Amino acid sequence: MSKRDYYEILEVSKDASPEELKKAYRKQAIKFHPDKNPGKKDAEDKFKEAAEAYEVLSDQNKRQRYDQYGHAGMGNGGFGGGGMNMEDIFSHFGDIFGGGGNDPFSSFFGGGGRRGKSVNRGSNLRVKVKLTLEEIANGVEKKIKVNKYLSCKTCKGTGAKGGSSYNTCSTCRGSGHVSRVTSTFLGQMQTTQVCPNCGGEGQIITDKCTDCAGNGVVKGEEVISIRIPAGVAEGMQLSMSGNGNAAARSGVPGDLLIQIEEIRHEKFERDGNNLLYEHYITFSEAALGSSAEVPTIDGKVKIKIDPGTQSGKVLRLRGKGLSSINGYEGKGDLLISIVIWTPKTLTKEERIMLEKLGNSDNFKPSQETRDKNIFSRMKDLFEQ
Ligand SMILES: [Zn+2]
Ligand SMILES: [Zn+2]
Repeated sequence: MSKRDYYEILEVSKDASPEELKKAYRKQAIKFHPDKNPGKKDAEDKFKEAAEAYEVLSDQNKRQRYDQYGHAGMGNGGFGGGGMNMEDIFSHFGDIFGGGGNDPFSSFFGGGGRRGKSVNRGSNLRVKVKLTLEEIANGVEKKIKVNKYLSCKTCKGTGAKGGSSYNTCSTCRGSGHVSRVTSTFLGQMQTTQVCPNCGGEGQIITDKCTDCAGNGVVKGEEVISIRIPAGVAEGMQLSMSGNGNAAARSGVPGDLLIQIEEIRHEKFERDGNNLLYEHYITFSEAALGSSAEVPTIDGKVKIKIDPGTQSGKVLRLRGKGLSSINGYEGKGDLLISIVIWTPKTLTKEERIMLEKLGNSDNFKPSQETRDKNIFSRMKDLFEQ
């Protein structure tokens, strides 16, 4: 689920000028505009992606940070950490397409555009959560402190002093939009645009709340409890609807997007829902057979080494792996790979004994074994 490169999204070179960026974004925005691609989720994603890329690259500071650190430098959980919503995107169109901040597509594509009052939306917040394999195996509840916009308590998020000091906007009479007839290259057209007086909200605050300067939101901290189900994996993203930034003046809050990071386990390697473990035995144990204790993700178990066990043999402990995230697939297995330890130093007596043993025919692989194709040999090693 890695993010695409911003320059690639806008199809520009790394040294593109601001003018080139603007032009490139305009091209993408027209191509993937939702009015032109109704109901196409793919186009909407591309549209958002382009907006996010432009938002970063058009800001000199952000661009510098992105050039230096890539997506990792774009903030996690902080303010403005990406995740644009449609309202944000449309509100920036004034700069891109010229004109008074209206959405030019309402006239280009003949659709009604966005009529009616606009609802403020809080931006999404992104956080990363690092998990151990044990936490992933059992599921876990994590408490995370995030910096975010919170609804202002003083005015209950309305932005108005006392919570009620606002009037209906006289310019749009509360509808949030105004219509006007303009001349375009296609002739006379009626365009609808967001009311410039109230910004589409339909109301004007007469007396602003002093704590939030009329925004209805204040910067703050919140401890959020996140329940992470068993079986998540590196790169997965969970989403908690409504736990992102609060929206200006009683709008709809954004979402909290939780990116899963896996801390590498010192003993096990993960392969999907299976866990892989290497168990070393001596040559005598392999030849004579033995038993051993091996770790699993939830405690130790005993395994049996059969006499004549080959190096590379894989024992499968069913159900000793990880739960699948959706639960349908059941639990994965623990695959124990048996490795025979070859001594690196020998005493004189050991050397003499081994030389003697090495001459025995039993110590030599049969011609049949030698002739085996590598795949059938591996199949033999794998316990079903
Ligand atoms: Zn306030
Ligand atoms: Zn208005």
